[in-house]
Amino acid sequence: ATPTALLVGTGRGAQLGILIKGPEVLESTREVDTVVLDKTGTVTTGRMALTAALPVPGTSRDELLRLAGAVENASEHPIAQAIAKAATGALPAVHDFANLEGRGVRGTVDGHEVLVGRESLLARPLPPELAAAKARAESEGRTVVVAGWDGAARGLLVVADTVKPTSAEAVAGLNRLGLTPVLLTGDNKAVAERIAAEVGIDQVIAEVLPGDKADVIRRLQAEGRTVAMVGDGVNDAPALAQADLGLAMGTGTDVAIEAAGITLVRGDLRAAVDAIRLSRRTLATIR
Ligand code: ADP
Ligand code: MG
Repeated sequence: ATPTALLVGTGRGAQLGILIKGPEVLESTREVDTVVLDKTGTVTTGRMALTAALPVPGTSRDELLRLAGAVENASEHPIAQAIAKAATGALPAVHDFANLEGRGVRGTVDGHEVLVGRESLLARPLPPELAAAKARAESEGRTVVVAGWDGAARGLLVVADTVKPTSAEAVAGLNRLGLTPVLLTGDNKAVAERIAAEVGIDQVIAEVLPGDKADVIRRLQAEGRTVAMVGDGVNDAPALAQADLGLAMGTGTDVAIEAAGITLVRGDLRAAVDAIRLSRRTLATIR
């Protein structure tokens, strides 16, 4: 291979807002046939807003938001920020905060041990009326988290995220290059499928724990696919490293950027299409 052509390729990439770690990264895109896309922060803006807070009888909406908001205030997760922002007034202090990666948060507030996150965080099944409300909101494609304290569920917090305006065009671009896009997320299946439908992705892998995202990539590779992964979060880093080509959103976390071979500076998914097209062209001039 002529290193000069690869260097020209990386130079042109920089002009397009595509930072390529080294010329050899372009080589690894040659055989890519599958592009795995993280949902939150990659396909969607990741900026969530609270759309409903539904307490159980005996708990007020204010108390639900105050305790859940206090714990979430210590987390940088987009869901956490939506909940903390929706809690009005001064938030009480949190002790023994723990970030339960890919599942939620835990902390002690006003002497209560508060949990906010996936339903599985709670020891007991949800009371029927909460379970029904959760299923309804999820069927509408909302993200629903459960808040509980002192061993009981206290309410639901419903948040919604929006697709980036450029994501559908990017997916169409991937399809035009003959690549198969796959949506990968820790979020539930209904939410994932709504987002996938909105941007034109047929294949969805949902409810994947952060530690298992890299295994999903490994499984696809074992099926004989050559995989590019696009992500932004701390939880995407192992998958970005495992993929044949890792692309990180420049708007994402440093950990993701470090694990990836390519950074899409503007956080615009269309740059992933540009990156793959650029590397194909660059390699074509070499061969
Ligand atoms: P994604 O793969 O879409 O980026 P994550 O792996 O970060 O999503 O989170 C997966 C799921 O874990 C979320 O949909 C939510 O149910 C739960 N979760 C993670 N962090 C939090 C948090 N700070 N507060 C509430 N729920 C959380
Ligand atoms: Mg993400």
